Amino acid sequence: MQVNDLKNELASIVKDLKTRVEFEKTFGIDVISLSTQNKREKPSITITHEKDLPEGLPPQTKPFNKKTFTINNKENKVKLLEELKNEMLVCHKCPLSKTRTNLVFGVGNPMANLMFVGEAPGRDEDLQGEPFVGRAGQLLTKIIEAIGMKRSDVYIANILKCRPPGNRNPLPDEIALCMPALIKQIEIIQPKVLCALGTFAAQTLLNTKASIGSLRGKFHDYKGIPTMATFHPAYLLRNPNEKGKVWEDMKKVRDFLKELLNN
Ligand code: SF4
Repeated sequence: MQVNDLKNELASIVKDLKTRVEFEKTFGIDVISLSTQNKREKPSITITHEKDLPEGLPPQTKPFNKKTFTINNKENKVKLLEELKNEMLVCHKCPLSKTRTNLVFGVGNPMANLMFVGEAPGRDEDLQGEPFVGRAGQLLTKIIEAIGMKRSDVYIANILKCRPPGNRNPLPDEIALCMPALIKQIEIIQPKVLCALGTFAAQTLLNTKASIGSLRGKFHDYKGIPTMATFHPAYLLRNPNEKGKVWEDMKKVRDFLKELLNN
């Protein structure tokens, strides 16, 4: 190995360690276990689509409408997102429209390279009309910051735009009726990487019944977009010992984006 390669490798290790220490401090993980494998491997993408979809899920190949989006500038994306939001604000396709306080459309940078997809609004989100603003949202913000990004750099949306009463699980019919809006959001934003947070987001985006435990940690394919699945921040609040796994997943997202943007 040349001296310069060695220096670069060392700098990469130090940077990685610094980020990890910050992340672990943030996440309250006391023990730092240093991996000897610091080499950044190119991620492989797993095709996860299954034919036996959960009942009621929409076919993922079906676009929201027949319009083809060839949008690369911010102005157009903002306009299209605004139009879609206005459509959704008056959506009464499913009974959740009767119990919502606010519709929770999505938030963030329309030019985002990284887009997070969660399950559905909770109480705080329903009250404020913004996704991931409660305790789980604060944790998501820390996760984003731990990989060297700001919340305003990414885009955040949910599978469902209205809160299921009592935070119950989304029903298949609700997912089927609401999913076209998310598909259109993704088409407009065109992120380089998607990150599915939790079981419902991962299973819906990837058309699979596989558990989040088996899906996490790998890049899957959503219509050509590399999609990382990981645990939902709300799950991490209940199971803090799983935070290390999310850190591993997010490092892969960080490294993948870094490599993509450097090439
Ligand atoms: S959850 Fe989705 S489909 Fe149901 S009313 Fe709200 S926006 Fe419409």
